[in-house]
Amino acid sequence: LTKKNSEGGGINRRAVIATGGAVGVGVVAAPSAEAAATRWNRTVDVIVVGSGAAGLPAAIRARDLGASVLVVEMNDDVGGHAIISNAFTNLGGGNAMQQKYGIVDTPDDIYLEYTRPDHAMTRYNDRAMVRAFADYNVEVYDFLVAKGVMFRDARPTNSPSEGSAIPRRIGMETYSDNIRETINGTGGSGYVRPLEHAARAAGVEFLLSHQMVRIVREDVNAGPVQGIEVLDRVRNRRITIRARRGVIACTGGSSSNVAIRTIYDPRLTDEYQVGCEPYSPQSGDAEQLGMAVGASLGGTAGQRNETYLALQKTAFIGCQYGYARWDPNSPYFQRARASGLAVADYQDAILVNAVGERFYDETVTPTRVRGDEGWSALQGYFSAALSSAVKVIDGKKHRIGGPVWAIFDAEGAAREEWTLTPPHVDPDYFFSASTLGQLAAQLNRNVYQARHPMSGVTLAESVARYNGFVDAGADADFRKPTPRYKIQTPPFYAAWATPILHDTYAGLRVNANWQVMDVFGAPITGFYCAGESAGGFTQHGVARCAVGGYIAATHAVGA
Ligand SMILES: Cc1cc2nc3c(=O)[nH]c(=O)nc-3n(C[C@H](O)[C@H](O)[C@H](O)COP(=O)(O)OP(=O)(O)OC[C@H]3O[C@@H](n4cnc5c(N)ncnc54)[C@H](O)[C@@H]3O)c2cc1C
Repeated sequence: LTKKNSEGGGINRRAVIATGGAVGVGVVAAPSAEAAATRWNRTVDVIVVGSGAAGLPAAIRARDLGASVLVVEMNDDVGGHAIISNAFTNLGGGNAMQQKYGIVDTPDDIYLEYTRPDHAMTRYNDRAMVRAFADYNVEVYDFLVAKGVMFRDARPTNSPSEGSAIPRRIGMETYSDNIRETINGTGGSGYVRPLEHAARAAGVEFLLSHQMVRIVREDVNAGPVQGIEVLDRVRNRRITIRARRGVIACTGGSSSNVAIRTIYDPRLTDEYQVGCEPYSPQSGDAEQLGMAVGASLGGTAGQRNETYLALQKTAFIGCQYGYARWDPNSPYFQRARASGLAVADYQDAILVNAVGERFYDETVTPTRVRGDEGWSALQGYFSAALSSAVKVIDGKKHRIGGPVWAIFDAEGAAREEWTLTPPHVDPDYFFSASTLGQLAAQLNRNVYQARHPMSGVTLAESVARYNGFVDAGADADFRKPTPRYKIQTPPFYAAWATPILHDTYAGLRVNANWQVMDVFGAPITGFYCAGESAGGFTQHGVARCAVGGYIAATHAVGA
């Protein structure tokens, strides 16, 4: 399901190739042969691509304003990351929940906090976008409540890690006890399912298992966006859909798309997995297909991967997708294959890089460093995790990135009270052996590690050196606080513990109407982008997505 490289996804690249000579600023090009020849299979007013945190409010808002609306969703159910999320939502401005708990907040407060110059999450934000976001907060909160979104009635909390001191963070009730409806039993279902039902009741049409694979513009990089081509993933056939008022791309960021994510950070090669995969990938399709028709990227300074939730130390080890725990009862569990092991105390394991060497104090966690003082420690962890492994290839040294493995022994596993069998662990991401040399040979079977097999000698030396630190009572290499337990009792274990990607904080450049801008700095008629695929506003999660989708639809239909 997950597109992992630039060649995947069946995307038609003829549009890119057909670009030929660039169209200059202000020059109106004749429609390309391709656009002129498009035979539309159907026509609606507004196409919303993606049915997650941004797409659902966009669709309902456009329908409320009188448009005919089609939602195109590549997955076989709605919700994207939003339904897997916890959906704690940072909407404020003095909304009813804040008023109920006596919290004073205004749109100006939101604006000033999210453009703060002294915070890494806020200083790069596009001021016009944040101004519009701030001014729409209360209206969107009221809209979501009216559509049935299940905000938890509790005092909102603040989010200092995001630069936000005023309490705005509101939790969400889980939609039901039926895991078929909630997908993984989380609060995001209290956002997604009510919006899905409101959309269907209002007459929004959903086309599930259909993936946008091309954006049709009047000319390859000039004129309005006219519609899209979609791939019916079940019947493996393509159809074209025209949009009279606009295409609103809400495809959920680009963290799963190696071609796009390595634009922001070349270290992020394909071994790094993404939170919420394998339910829905962050396909990067809005960005990739948008750029193919002349759209610009924006907000790229916001995509600093050591910032907040862009990159995470995986919470569950021994499985491929360890950002959140996959419930074995989930209807999508067969895609995830294992729920992983939560590490209670990194005194019970060491972490080694792809060449089998330790690289950092293992006990650094997002929880330990969250708050003002700690981000630099976590940044150091990620830098080391992504770049410390050096391999000699054809006589030359190369930094190779690669997997990170948690190494522990039988006693460590017993202290953690882990059950080391499926569905807790994935046999392709979890290995055991009676010696460390054999363990290296085992983990070299992993598809990502196999490219650069680990030396059993190096792994054994790393463990022996660490055991020496336990004897000495001090970690001379990385100053792990008082290493406590030797790794010495077979069987020995290796569990996948590679950092995992999460939020996308950059994407297509949009203006304050969430209308996509081209590479010359002009808005593209009929093309909008909201949610994590829109760049310019670094804020975690649902709030910027909901507000962006709402504003985009308002402008697409009203403009
Ligand atoms: C485990 C977890 C916990 C989280 N907790 C929180 C939280 O507490 N609070 C918070 O605010 N945020 C949270 N988030 C983040 C939040 O879920 C996302 O920021 C948000 O859902 C992004 O919204 P979106 O609309 O951009 O993308 P999504 O919600 O991911 O929706 C994008 C949709 O587009 C579809 N799509 C992609 N490409 C195509 C294509 N070419 N054609 C058709 N469809 C396509 C996808 O299948 C998907 O359904 C969490 C995320 C995860 C994974």
